[in-house]
Amino acid sequence: MSFASLGLSEEIVRAVTERGYTDPTPIQLQAIPAVLSGGDLLAGAQTGTGKTAGFVLPILHRLADKAVKGPSEGRPPIRALILTPTRELAAQVEESVREYGKYLKLNSMMMFGGVNINPQIQKLRSRVDILVATPGRLLDHAQQKTVDLSKVEILVLDEADRMLDMGFIRDIKKIMALIPKQRQTLLFSATFSDEIKTLADSLLNNPAMIEVARRNATAELISQKAYAVDRERKRELLTHLIKEHNWFQVLVFTRTKHAANRLAEQLDKDGIPAMAIHGNKSQAARTRALKEFKDGSLQVLVATDIAARGIDISELPHVVNFELPNVAEDYVHRIGRTGRAGSEGEALSLVCVDEHKLLADIARLTKRDLTAEILPGFEPDPRIKAEPILNGSQRGNQPRGGGQGRARTPVRSGSQPAARPAGGGGAKPAARAPALHRTGGRNR
Ligand code: AMP
Repeated sequence: MSFASLGLSEEIVRAVTERGYTDPTPIQLQAIPAVLSGGDLLAGAQTGTGKTAGFVLPILHRLADKAVKGPSEGRPPIRALILTPTRELAAQVEESVREYGKYLKLNSMMMFGGVNINPQIQKLRSRVDILVATPGRLLDHAQQKTVDLSKVEILVLDEADRMLDMGFIRDIKKIMALIPKQRQTLLFSATFSDEIKTLADSLLNNPAMIEVARRNATAELISQKAYAVDRERKRELLTHLIKEHNWFQVLVFTRTKHAANRLAEQLDKDGIPAMAIHGNKSQAARTRALKEFKDGSLQVLVATDIAARGIDISELPHVVNFELPNVAEDYVHRIGRTGRAGSEGEALSLVCVDEHKLLADIARLTKRDLTAEILPGFEPDPRIKAEPILNGSQRGNQPRGGGQGRARTPVRSGSQPAARPAGGGGAKPAARAPALHRTGGRNR
């Protein structure tokens, strides 16, 4: 099945072909006809599946097909609104809109916070057919009456689960009140919690439902390993591994911004060029870090889950979980950064005594044997007791003012409240830890 046979116009197919895509991905095969039909859509797909083109291509087709002739007075209206949880994702989606739409006469704009609002106000005075925005800044514009959403025909909520995790539900509801009830709505989400189902029920009208398999649930190309190590010796072990194996382009995950900053600084001191990327960084700093990481001049990028989500860094050789995520599904997102497009990747988790329960959760979700190995020289000290992980932070990494920026509640269907002890109640967590075993003395 080709893009042309899905019913997309010649201009769009040409742009896609130039991008190097020959065949639609499974999500595109299902989403493109559904969106072209004009109906609502509820799609279960995560980053890496090709979901962006899955909605961008048919939206471009529909808007170009039914071009507005240009009003007799005033500027043409915004016709499609794409909401994303993060600035990086907004930038990437808008780049896709521009690239796939380069042979069409449609204008797009991205809009997010953390940057001066005035250039955005200026741009909104020109023709914008497709607006890609994060909710907070969009509402700022709405309040200042610098954006008019009253003619939006198509609305997309991209990574809706992440938007809810980041506390955007009220913003989304306010935005809904500003756009016409009569519209096409597309909701993309990697997970389907009860919250997402409620949101979908309230926003979608008799939607087509599609779901593609989790990309990485069976990603055979990713080698996954865990090392048992003391909480306070993780950085030492990471430095050792990076230097010993001469790793480059290592994406390292921490649970909190504070931990990301601290680790990046420490690695830098160890002579390993590293930068942190998270919501408190300026847009310029994030863009620079990402660029240097992509072009290979920055050896290590330390990221929080939220900052990294949606960033398209392809074919990473190494992803390291410096701290395991509180929500096992985030592990799948994290390691999905490696081994893309047929290249091999390695995902490594550094697991301390506090995190055995989290490791067991991940092993259960991914159906993998993730037994933590012990590296000679880094044997965990059995006298160290497990401590609860509160608000995503371990002792020593505890920020003064809480965890991840906007209140993030890692509560997904069937998961636990935010502030829970890693041991699932605190009582003897080590007793439920997966068995540890020693490697044969090799550091591989
Ligand atoms: P996404 O899930 O939208 O973040 O896309 C993940 C990656 O897949 C991006 O790097 C896209 O450029 C790429 N991609 C999207 N569609 C295709 C396709 N049909 N063939 C090959 N690569 C694709």
